[in-house]
Formats: sequence, C-alpha cells, structure tokens
Amino acid sequence: MEGADRFQMLIPEDRIQARIAEMGRQITQDFQGRDLVVVGVLKGAIFFLTDLVRRIDLPLAMDFLGLSSYGDATESSGVVRITQDLSRPIVDQDVLVVEDIVDTGLTLAFLRENLLARRPRSLRICTLLHKPSNTLREVPLDYVGFTIENRFVVGYGLDYEQRYRNLPYIGYLPLPQAPAG
Ligand code: 5GP
Repeated sequence: MEGADRFQMLIPEDRIQARIAEMGRQITQDFQGRDLVVVGVLKGAIFFLTDLVRRIDLPLAMDFLGLSSYGDATESSGVVRITQDLSRPIVDQDVLVVEDIVDTGLTLAFLRENLLARRPRSLRICTLLHKPSNTLREVPLDYVGFTIENRFVVGYGLDYEQRYRNLPYIGYLPLPQAPAG
C-alpha cells in the first residue's frame, strides 16, 4: 500500500489473531449462560470487533457507537461527542464495550459514564491496545489485548488521517533520529 512502508511492524497479524482467540475464550467463559450486547466504538474498533465476536461462543447482539473527540488528530482533548448512538436501549443487558485503543482514558471515561447512566445489568470493557504511560483517567479495563509503549500506532482499524486502517498488522511511525554528535 502506498506510504505503508513508512511504518515499522509492532504487532504482526498472526500475533493479533492468536491473542484475539485467547480473549474470545476468556470472554466465553466469563459470560457463560448470559446473552451479550457487544458495543463497538466506530470506526477504529470494527476490525477487532468482527474478529473477536467470531471467537465468542455465546448468543450475542452487536451495536455501534460513533464518538468524536475535539482536538487535533493525535491528541485527545477529553471533550467527546456522540456522533452516532446505539440503535437499542441497553437497560438490564450485559454489555461488553469493544475499543481499539485506550490512551489517556478520557474517551472511555466519558463513554463509561454515559453507558452506565442507561442502567445496563453489567458493563465490561475490552480494548485491543492500552498505552498506560499516558493515563489521565483510570478506567477499569476488563480485557486488554496488548499493552504498548507510548507510540502512535496505525493499522488493523487504527488510522492516521483516515488512512492505513486496512493494514492487517499494527505498525508505528518511527520518530526521526537525532543527528549524531
Ligand atoms: P484517549 O481518549 O484514551 O486518549 O484516546 C482514545 C482515542 O484516541 C482512540 O479511540 C483513538 O481514536 C485515538 N488514539 C489514541 N492513541 C492512538 C494511536 O496511537 N493511534 C491512533 N490511530 N489513534 C489513537
């Protein structure tokens, strides 16, 4: 793909898929006997969600939420707006939120409070990636795919200016090296 060679490999496709299979098994165990509503956060979590639900052996429904955070492309401002709401109420449902990445935690803190106000029976959070070094708000994360360093990553749903979501792996843009001496 044009421009994709600028990215360094961080997590190859086979490791992503192996980890998702493990997470799916864990979620299947934890929710035995329950009906799940899996809520995906658009657009970044789409790839992760569609792979994850195929590894969950439970009856489940899927719904989606669009969020937009004010601020520039690579910094979260914490001021979040719902651009597309869930299609159905979640009152008395077991809800699993599926996120692509938790960076400062500000987006998820907003989302969690918003969803809890709708009185689900339970609310758990699953994220593919977590960058703990940037935490500004602690949000309980029930399932974490990979904990990563503070790097701007793309691929497997994550974009840079709306591009590179379709890379099958997760890559990062290396910072320019400081000149020697
Ligand atoms: P937070 O509110 O936790 O700081 O940020 C959450 C959102 O910021 C994510 O859902 C994602 O859209 C964006 N984000 C944070 N870090 C990265 C990153 O490394 N790469 C990309 N593509 N988006 C990121």
